Amino acid sequence: MATKVVTRKEGYWDKFYLPALAVGLKVTIKQFYKTLFKGQATTIQYPEVKRNYSQRFRGMHFISVDENKTENCTACYLCQTVCPAECITIIAEERDPEENVYGVRKEKKPKSFDIDALRCCFCGMCEEACPKDAIKLSRNYELATTSRAEAFYDLDHLKREVKGRG
Ligand code: SF4
Ligand code: SF4
Repeated sequence: MATKVVTRKEGYWDKFYLPALAVGLKVTIKQFYKTLFKGQATTIQYPEVKRNYSQRFRGMHFISVDENKTENCTACYLCQTVCPAECITIIAEERDPEENVYGVRKEKKPKSFDIDALRCCFCGMCEEACPKDAIKLSRNYELATTSRAEAFYDLDHLKREVKGRG
């Protein structure tokens, strides 16, 4: 394949660099003026200021709980089955028969419920498939971690209150 050679015409003033520097400085001063005196900043002071994302934004997962902090999940495996990224791993166990949730005993509960957020593509199919409205995607987009292990959410993490839960 032929390589396209792009030649750049250099004008007389380009040799001195200073005119180009002045043009760049003019843009910077113009933006500075707009930000300082007209309040027209194009950036925000993150993290103090947050962007208002759409209600449909899909962020960090969480497992909803009832008033007794018992997870609404019945370990039916539907979310794990439907997940295209295969990032949900559930191990089910029998629920204590004495445990009565909403007056209706759920026979199974997750012994462990793990989501590998590094594999997740945030498609929301797990949320759609769940018959118990147990797994949900919050509007929290602050998912940065300093290690891979922190991006692996276990049941305790998923049941914890997260910002932007919705
Ligand atoms: S959002 Fe999609 S990819 Fe992520 S866990 Fe749910 S189903 Fe899997
Ligand atoms: S989160 Fe919902 S779909 Fe997934 S195992 Fe629990 S009840 Fe089933």
